Amino acid sequence: MSAPSAARTRRLRDADKAHLWHPFTQMAEWAAGEPVVIEAGEREFLIDTDGRRYIDGVASLWCNLHGHRRPELDEAVRRQLGRIAHSTLLGLTSAPAIELAERLVGIAPRGLTRVFYSDSGAAAVEIALKMAFQYWRQCARPEPQRTKFAGLALGYHGDTLGAVSVGGIDVFHGIFRPLLFECIRAPAPYCYRCPLGKRRESCGMACADALEQVLASRGREVAALILEPLVQGAGGMIVHPEGYLGRAAEACRRHNVLLIADEVATGFGRTGRMFACEHEGVRPDIMCLGKGISGGYLPLAATLATERIYEAFLGGPAENRTFFHGHTYTGNALACAAGLASLDIFEKDRVLDRIAGLSARLGALLEPLAAMLHVGEVRRRGLMAGIELAADRATRAAYPPAERRGRQACLAARERGVWLRPLGDVAVIMPPYCISDESLARLVEAVRMGIEEATAT
Ligand SMILES: *Cc1c(COP(=O)(O)O)cnc(C)c1O
Repeated sequence: MSAPSAARTRRLRDADKAHLWHPFTQMAEWAAGEPVVIEAGEREFLIDTDGRRYIDGVASLWCNLHGHRRPELDEAVRRQLGRIAHSTLLGLTSAPAIELAERLVGIAPRGLTRVFYSDSGAAAVEIALKMAFQYWRQCARPEPQRTKFAGLALGYHGDTLGAVSVGGIDVFHGIFRPLLFECIRAPAPYCYRCPLGKRRESCGMACADALEQVLASRGREVAALILEPLVQGAGGMIVHPEGYLGRAAEACRRHNVLLIADEVATGFGRTGRMFACEHEGVRPDIMCLGKGISGGYLPLAATLATERIYEAFLGGPAENRTFFHGHTYTGNALACAAGLASLDIFEKDRVLDRIAGLSARLGALLEPLAAMLHVGEVRRRGLMAGIELAADRATRAAYPPAERRGRQACLAARERGVWLRPLGDVAVIMPPYCISDESLARLVEAVRMGIEEATAT
């Protein structure tokens, strides 16, 4: 690690501003700021080139599980490097890819028996969509009229065009509309801003009825429904009412629509169970995994499918039933080795038990924030939390987005040694599972003070 040097930091910042184009970033705003240049990490901390430490409050964009420089993960990657970094799965196979597939099937909701690797959540979603589409052309009783997909308003599934097509966040996706295929959308189960104008106490989960109606009227055209189970992450940490997921799965079964569970954000313990689907006993036909799958170390994703889906792709060479999809780095050995080591840590350290304790603690720490003058709602499921700011609590009026209140709150938290990235005016808390009690308390306190500062006037 280089010795902290202000001159080096300045040089790197200038070079960043001269050459880098950052994701989901207004670069004019970026160029006017003082970006933190990360040099190293340790457990729940990020360390910058000036030697300053920050709590990694959103787990490096929701993917880090067991901390940075976790010895077992470092060692697993190093051990794999001593053998081979990468070989292709097109025509060859490899031990880490095989072993990880076995382990994933072992922990996935029952029925998911086949693992198709890729390298990002968006790719895992593209694969799921193409699989579902092709399935209906090749299954025992083909229904080739099923060419459409259904999804939820405010859904997020990644940034490639298929994933954007099934996404429902207008600020991200609107401009690309002319390039996209049609997605039949059901209203978001977003209780705080109910799109149906209902109240949770008396709604009888009208959003689930609305989804049912969508499938009842257009289900015969639909290949699959894709949704983020339990929590719509990028849409604003929208926590679904209990029972919604089960109702959605039932509606799919009734209308013979495949269910794609996008567990890219919710998977690997985030919601308190290994996979969010488990909370409501849901067994999807296809499941997308990413983010935490490698412990947050390397780009890896997977699309899991049932035997029923898989079998539709079997046939002789002349039948042309092959799934023609692949990526150069599909099943990368280093990434799979990290994934295996991450699952070992889950077992060895009883990580799910630890998450239960941490979740309860986070819930208690967040309680006072719910009473703040400009906090509209605090939402949480396990270790995924969102704090939605409101200009007026009584009317639930939002701040004008251009005021960038969420961003101001996070910048203020950064001054207190906590790094966060908000979703508009929703402050997000998604700590790595290794976070200490002390750091968790510091994290929430920094968020509280950040919100206070950003909403003072
Ligand atoms: C982040 C995310 C994706 C996209 O994953 P990338 O690896 O960023 O492509 C897809 N679905 C959900 C639910 C996500 O949160």
